[in-house]
Amino acid sequence: MSFSFSKSQAYFEAAQKQIPGGVNSPVRAFKAVGGTPIFVKRAQGAYLFDEDGNRYIELINSWGPMILGHAHPAVTEAVSRAVLDSPSFGAPTVREIEMAALICKMVPSIEKVRMVNSGTEATMSAVRLARGYTGRDKFIKIEGCYHGHGDSFLIAAGSGAITFGKPNSPGVTEGTAKDTLLAPYNYLEAIENLVNANPNQIAALIIEPVAGNMGCILPKKGYLEGLRKICTEKGIVLIFDEVMTGFRLAKGGAQEVFGITPDLTTLGKIIGGGLPVGAYGGKKEIMDYVSPQGSVYQAGTLSGNPIAMAAGLALLSLLDANPEVYHTLNTKVTELTAEMQQIDRSLGLTYTYNQIGSMMNPFFTTAPVEDFESAKKCDTALFGKYFHAMLQRGVYLAPSQFESWFFSAALSDADYEHILKAHKAAMMEIHTA
Ligand SMILES: *Cc1c(COP(=O)(O)O)cnc(C)c1O
Repeated sequence: MSFSFSKSQAYFEAAQKQIPGGVNSPVRAFKAVGGTPIFVKRAQGAYLFDEDGNRYIELINSWGPMILGHAHPAVTEAVSRAVLDSPSFGAPTVREIEMAALICKMVPSIEKVRMVNSGTEATMSAVRLARGYTGRDKFIKIEGCYHGHGDSFLIAAGSGAITFGKPNSPGVTEGTAKDTLLAPYNYLEAIENLVNANPNQIAALIIEPVAGNMGCILPKKGYLEGLRKICTEKGIVLIFDEVMTGFRLAKGGAQEVFGITPDLTTLGKIIGGGLPVGAYGGKKEIMDYVSPQGSVYQAGTLSGNPIAMAAGLALLSLLDANPEVYHTLNTKVTELTAEMQQIDRSLGLTYTYNQIGSMMNPFFTTAPVEDFESAKKCDTALFGKYFHAMLQRGVYLAPSQFESWFFSAALSDADYEHILKAHKAAMMEIHTA
């Protein structure tokens, strides 16, 4: 059992000549785990094949979209048919009506929806809309939540809970940072403090209702309810960023699972079936502020693109028609998590596992992980070793401790067995060296 990565290594060398860091999105570069990224040739169902001919069980699934497995025939067929009619018009098409109707049906808090091209666009647009609607400038972001790479989200915590944020990337201005307020995840009191310190100035609160971008972190009982209550009382637009959780935790996303109705929702990942798509939607009263109906400007040459709509519609229609997919998949991942913990205990290990539905990951710490601070206590070097030990055994994980794993319904029982075997061997390997 020794995978060779020589072709991928050569491609990575070549890639770095003309592409910054050799990749078109940073996490792909394996910087957090060391080594060089694998270059993917193709994928089918539950498996990914790299340029060296290695086969992996897929637990990234394009960071979510491939919830029914890669190259699903319904999606592939829809895309193939759509492309023959020309890839883009920049004019309205019937599929956009179908897509909007399906989204509103699956996510009932969405009464009107606007299609965009990425999750980043969705969150940027949703915050602008909340600002336009409320006439307020500031918004609250939760530490460790990721909302894409818009300037106003690339903000780190300042010195105290009620201070302004500061830029955490060069190129983001202090002026932008001063309107982003930060609070830790799962900590209602921090929100109350921010709201009291900034009366009638906060337009929105945006949150991943289940966090997936600092590893998988679940909301504590009462947290989301508390946010809803504060936002309602203070006229703050509550935005659930369900780019990751939407159509994954349930047909209606985390808001369905937890029974909370946000004012706006941002979507991405699964909604495009693997093509570049995002969307934001919610209460009609707020969405009617979007141009051309309202005055909050937002546009896109390729928004609602026919091929992207065909792919997204094909995937969402399958999920809508087969809701049992969620129950089956979620049950399997729950069982897998318990079995991984059982294996750990048999080896004398007690790492923390967070799981909900088909989102799960181990944290290399023995303490509970409930926010960004506790997530940061993980042994990331050990995770790096684990990552490579799993890769060598044909399991492709997200290359960072701070990412959830995403399971697909294409995994067979034999694949789950393989994951467990690989996990046991990897855990033994990294704890004996
Ligand atoms: C991935 C992600 C985004 C950004 O989406 P892109 O399509 O990468 O721009 C925003 N929010 C959340 C919660 C995400 O997981």
